[in-house]
Amino acid sequence: MSKAIRIHANGGPEVLKWEQVPTPRPNATEALIRHEAIGVNYIDIYFRTGLYKTALPATLGIEGAGIVLAVGEKVTNVAPGDRVAYAGGPLGAYATERVINADRLVKLPDDIDFETGAAMMLRGLTAYFLLHRTFKIQPGQKILVHAAAGGVGLILCQWAKHLGAEVIGVVSSETKAEIVKANGAAHAIIGHANLAAEVKQITGGAMVPVVYDSVGKDTFNASLDCLAPLGLMVCYGNASGPVPPLDIATLVTKGSLFLTRPSFATYMAAPQDIATGAAALFDAVRSGAVKILVNQTFPLEQAAAAHAALEARQTTGSTVLLP
Ligand code: NDP
Repeated sequence: MSKAIRIHANGGPEVLKWEQVPTPRPNATEALIRHEAIGVNYIDIYFRTGLYKTALPATLGIEGAGIVLAVGEKVTNVAPGDRVAYAGGPLGAYATERVINADRLVKLPDDIDFETGAAMMLRGLTAYFLLHRTFKIQPGQKILVHAAAGGVGLILCQWAKHLGAEVIGVVSSETKAEIVKANGAAHAIIGHANLAAEVKQITGGAMVPVVYDSVGKDTFNASLDCLAPLGLMVCYGNASGPVPPLDIATLVTKGSLFLTRPSFATYMAAPQDIATGAAALFDAVRSGAVKILVNQTFPLEQAAAAHAALEARQTTGSTVLLP
């Protein structure tokens, strides 16, 4: 038997239940993994509350690192005993053991520990595709990053700086402003009440070619106002709630703007996407260009406390559960 955090209904952190479940058996293309560390991501909250739908009961979580215990007969890329990490669906990471299609797994380099692996696969691969594929960052560009002290945010700040960008990070407190400035951001803006005016001042009136907005409802319009003509609005999350329907005429009146709503699932659909992204991410981390800050760990059993902290904006960097 294994242990898992499951939900039987949508709701607050209290719906996360610590339960005994049968240890799954891998089918022909799957690997059975014993988790050593599990990533907590904002998307887990969307599934818990019901903003994103899943069949119930469900074991939450889409990111983890651990050791392969067994593989199906068609699996050739990993073997029992391998140290591995993964990100992406299907749900099921909040468990001591799980099965997953082996083509989702990457081998973890020996010098990257399990906590770091579990903290960086979803957030780091997201930062990778946002900076290299959704918009290709060019040296010298000033860019705007919301929730800059968060898990994805701190990786974005460091990696964008490494690519030569000047990052303007948006955060909600002085403490978080200090953290982002120590981790790649050249500027920190606290709150979004005067966002466009502050961005105008920092950019000398030019505004920015791209905004990475993971906050959604509360910041969407302010973000559009920070873009230079022909700028790209990357709306990649909804921590404050989903963005209401948009009149596309807004994009023309604000300067022929581009808008995209990217998802990890699309950008990391093929095993080759994961292999390419993970290679770039491991390089960035091993070279020291990007530090993965695991600023909170909780026992797996206390996943509810991890959710409450993330939702209350009390966390910075990445949050990891330990089985
Ligand atoms: P974070 O660590 O960034 O936590 C969320 C942060 O959002 C908070 O710390 C807070 O920072 C900010 N925030 C702003 N408004 C609110 C609000 N009303 N309630 C709660 N938080 C708020 O989380 P993650 O790193 O896990 O994820 C960051 C974002 O990236 C999420 O929106 C997530 O959905 C998205 N994401 C999208 C992916 C995709 O494929 N599109 C893939 C991975 C992540 P502050 O206090 O400084 O405002």
